[in-house]
Amino acid sequence: MENQYIQDTEQGLLKTYNRFPVVLDHGEGMYLYDTDGKKYLDFAAGIAVCGLGYGNQEFGNAIKSQVDKLLHTSNLYYNTTCGEAAKELKRISQMDRVFFTNSGTEAVEGALKAARKYAYEKKSGRYEFIAMEDAFHGRSIGAVSVTGHKEYREPFEPMLPGVSFATFNDLDSVKALVNEKTCAIIMETIQGEGGINPATPEFLNGVRKICDENDILLILDEIQCGMGRSGSYFAWQQMGVKPDIMTMAKAIGNGIPVGAFAMTEKVAQHSLKPGDHGTTYGGNPLACMAVKTVIDIFEKEDLIGHVNEIAPYLTEKLEEVVSEFDCAVKVKGKGLIQGLQITKPTGEVTKKALEEGLLIISAGQNVLRVIPPLIVEKEHIDEMIEKLKKALA
Ligand code: PLP
Repeated sequence: MENQYIQDTEQGLLKTYNRFPVVLDHGEGMYLYDTDGKKYLDFAAGIAVCGLGYGNQEFGNAIKSQVDKLLHTSNLYYNTTCGEAAKELKRISQMDRVFFTNSGTEAVEGALKAARKYAYEKKSGRYEFIAMEDAFHGRSIGAVSVTGHKEYREPFEPMLPGVSFATFNDLDSVKALVNEKTCAIIMETIQGEGGINPATPEFLNGVRKICDENDILLILDEIQCGMGRSGSYFAWQQMGVKPDIMTMAKAIGNGIPVGAFAMTEKVAQHSLKPGDHGTTYGGNPLACMAVKTVIDIFEKEDLIGHVNEIAPYLTEKLEEVVSEFDCAVKVKGKGLIQGLQITKPTGEVTKKALEEGLLIISAGQNVLRVIPPLIVEKEHIDEMIEKLKKALA
């Protein structure tokens, strides 16, 4: 008999996902457990969210104490944790001004609005966006408009006017689209959903140069690749460029829904002002306690140092799979955002992996996305490789 929760879920929820046939109940460290007590090694981290893994005591205690203290105030008042979290996020992102949202999509929406407002204040007449093919930025109309997958956009057309798509890592294709109406260029520093494609430093630097020469803003989306996963807090920090606006979400809250967009003072001075943008929940004390505590734990435990130490081992073991399996083509990505390109249908492999007790998800058409909690150790990588090999066989 099917698990009662699966039936309940499908009776009540809008069917927008082809979910795996498993009901997860609790977690501990790198593992999740279903309602039958079956144990799963987690290499998906709730789609790059649970950087600290499951059951982190310090994180849990901070959240519990905030629940008892204060949950909500609205943005009509200051609250203590919001200011503290903003200060910390500002420090690690090297940005000057932060706006808290409730999700990544909202962070992208805010970033697009901030860029349009900058153009409006400058009376530049610019409103167009250049985005990238294979990009993913979320599911609202604005975010879908800059998402580089036709099948995500088409059912919801017409999209935002003035969006064109360049080829990721092809500078000439960007140059060909730039014109006097271009307001901003938006891209992920490492494409996640599109198949784990890092921007090359040459491409990113080239895009930065185009922006500087044409008074165009550069928006970097670090929602999936950010918060330590790439081996630095944000992936652009390893590439000698700085965005004008950036987006964050997912792992900054470790499971508490929170996102943010942030910008330099230069942009902020000519962008969103009181009345231009807002949110009831964004910046609420609970979400901000999550952000503040995540950053505290990152610093105390040197999680970024750990990512840099462990990531080469993950690459090495995935390369081993490539040399052993004809269906495994190549390893992509960096840090703990890696991908294994395969020729077999990814859905078949992820399903078999689930049976083996491994949670792993796909990206793009033919890539297995390897995005474990950042606390992963060598023994977990070995266990994952063993299960993955069985799933690929
Ligand atoms: N941007 C990127 C790069 C993402 O990977 C995602 C989600 O996967 C989003 C935006 C949307 O974030 P959310 O699902 O929190 O709205």
